[in-house]
Amino acid sequence: MSDAFNADLHCHSLVSDGTLEPAALARRAQRNGVDLWALTDHDELGGLQQAASACAEIGLDFVPGVEVSVSVGDQTVHVVGLGIDSGHAALRGHLQRMCEGRDARAHAIAASLREHTGVDDAYAGASRLAGNPALISRTHFARHLVERGVCSSTAEVFTRFLTPGKPGYVEHAWASLEQAVQWIHDAGGLAVLAHPGRYRFSAQAEQQLLARFRDLGGQGIEVVTASHSAADWRKYAQIARSFGLRASRGSDFHCPRESRCDLGQLPRLPDGLRPIWELLH
Ligand code: AMP
Ligand code: MN
Ligand code: MN
Ligand code: MN
Repeated sequence: MSDAFNADLHCHSLVSDGTLEPAALARRAQRNGVDLWALTDHDELGGLQQAASACAEIGLDFVPGVEVSVSVGDQTVHVVGLGIDSGHAALRGHLQRMCEGRDARAHAIAASLREHTGVDDAYAGASRLAGNPALISRTHFARHLVERGVCSSTAEVFTRFLTPGKPGYVEHAWASLEQAVQWIHDAGGLAVLAHPGRYRFSAQAEQQLLARFRDLGGQGIEVVTASHSAADWRKYAQIARSFGLRASRGSDFHCPRESRCDLGQLPRLPDGLRPIWELLH
């Protein structure tokens, strides 16, 4: 990466389901050679001020971001907003209302995990691990089940219990795609479809999603992310070109032990793409 601009435009702090403080992430990004860094907590803006101050102190270019949860049919899709106004009251309100159901969902997940794993303190365990009581996520349950010895990794907990069709999975109605893009635009941001290779759509449904996203004014898709294989990088590079979408790059870093990829440690974008960060700095 030494000869290329190192943008990392996707990661999480303990304000959502990461484990590090925003300021610690900023320092880690700089240590790892990141030139332009975005914090994109799930459905939360609470870490952005600390991240911005830390970046101002150490001289790192910062992009305030968010990763909005979206329901598309029976799947959850993520839309990253980049360059948002971090104090935007309407966006904050939309996200808060959308997350009101998280606590009831967490109780339902805990009840189901009690039945299927025998772990009887999953709600207390997940809330203890959550840095933000308003945002108990599946990741916190996964970490608690690893602590309890039910599985040896969080990835295994997801595979066995926390993904659609598995016993601990509880559906939730997140934002619509239209709402997420609108909220991000209203807050002055660019909308980027996160890790498209992670979803389980048919080829036709995927094309429809991409077309709908572009027609709503969505500006970019993640091409290089830790969730993608090398084949996915090529596939989504081609899709970015054919849909006229900008390309983004982000580690989706959550936690030093769990994450497949550390901040800034990703291959560069394939050639012939228009990077989303040209619109950001
Ligand atoms: P939630 O918003 O509570 O549904 O939690 C979503 C988070 O769970 C994602 O942002 C990921 O960090 C994590 N996650 C989802 N699926 C998996 C998986 N298969 N393996 C590991 N982590 C996952
Ligand atoms: Mn996450
Ligand atoms: Mn995501
Ligand atoms: Mn993410």
